[in-house]
Amino acid sequence: MKSLSCPNKHCPPSGKNDVGTIIRHGCYTTRWGKRRRYQCQSCGKTFCSTSGTPYYRLHHRRATFDEVAALSVEGLNKSAIARAKRIAWNTVHRWLERAAGWCRQFNSRKIKNLSGAELQADEIRMIVGSKQQSIWVFAVIDVWSRLWPSTIIGKRSYRNTLDLFRDLSRRMSLETIPLITTDGFGFYEKVVGRVFGAACVYGQVIKTRRNDRVVRVERRAVIGAQGLKQALQNSEDSVKLNTSFVERLNLTIRQGSAYLGRRTICQARWKERLEDHLELLRCHYNFLRRHLALKFGREIKTPAQQAGLISRALTLREIFSSRLLFVALKNVLFVLFDSTRPVTFATREAALAA
Ligand SMILES: [Zn+2]
Repeated sequence: MKSLSCPNKHCPPSGKNDVGTIIRHGCYTTRWGKRRRYQCQSCGKTFCSTSGTPYYRLHHRRATFDEVAALSVEGLNKSAIARAKRIAWNTVHRWLERAAGWCRQFNSRKIKNLSGAELQADEIRMIVGSKQQSIWVFAVIDVWSRLWPSTIIGKRSYRNTLDLFRDLSRRMSLETIPLITTDGFGFYEKVVGRVFGAACVYGQVIKTRRNDRVVRVERRAVIGAQGLKQALQNSEDSVKLNTSFVERLNLTIRQGSAYLGRRTICQARWKERLEDHLELLRCHYNFLRRHLALKFGREIKTPAQQAGLISRALTLREIFSSRLLFVALKNVLFVLFDSTRPVTFATREAALAA
């Protein structure tokens, strides 16, 4: 009960979990057993145990909902899930949309204050709609924790590259000077210079291919070359500039998405569908999926655990049961405050100097 708060936006103590105004208010029966109702004593509104979660008014078991989400991030397409679980395609589609919306909020709330000592960014090309249009999925990895903090989908434009790094810098705590590595794509240099400025070490790895084979690898430090040696010494994972970790993440992303397969007939018809799926996949990758590179003795950690965001691996049930919407008001303030924080060279310098 202490974890509950009133879902009524106009109720004064909304969003405060510890006010103790919520009482039990009987039960109701569903096909899958009893569910409890609750009442808020300050406004009198009643609500059930699934209000404000993706399970609200679900006509199936909650476990089925979880399984559909789990199958989707294993790379199954919606039609295959519908056949395997014997549910209508439309239901699968609607559930995945709901799950993705939830994961989007969860990701944006939970991924913050990263130390981000070593970051790598890359982009994957894919197709949407009729096969003529190509679109790019930008991804960033924090190498030390293997966390996938940010992703942007769209054209390979300056705007999108800037959005990616702005989102990333908002999620960082700026205690150390990060080492950033990308490929030779032109906009990275401008964007990293604009967002991080001299407060980072930035290098590029440029691969020359001939007949689909890498024939030459050129590594060059672009920003903060004098700090490169120290940054590589500090890194637990890299000996020289490389983009291997983000390329491995790209592979994981491709494996976890029916939309991103090569030579597929399942390409996303709409960009929004792909965005939704990647939010679900990112949540699963960061918070649920144990990463074999993070094996310490018997324990295998998830990237979010390694990054210190959570203390143990979560389950889909825990994520979908967390009542984010109940603290909607607080969220809005948080998001507004966070997104309007100016990302300027001066604030960055000040943060590093402090
Ligand atoms: Zn209330």
